[in-house]
Amino acid sequence: MDVDDTYCEPPGRIEPAPPAGPAEGPSYAECVLCREPTEHPESTKGATLCPVCTWQEAGRTACSG
Ligand SMILES: [Zn+2]
Repeated sequence: MDVDDTYCEPPGRIEPAPPAGPAEGPSYAECVLCREPTEHPESTKGATLCPVCTWQEAGRTACSG
């Protein structure tokens, strides 16, 4: 009846949580123009452009008119 089982046993070992997700490199969205990997994560919505296409698009826009 007298169950004194309130000992707080210390954890034997605290293991660090493994990193979530596959370790096959970062998954970046593809460039919509040249299908090269961009600097944007795959969760980015809308059209994603690689740095090269971004630069070209910017230049094109700046030179238009
Ligand atoms: Zn591109």
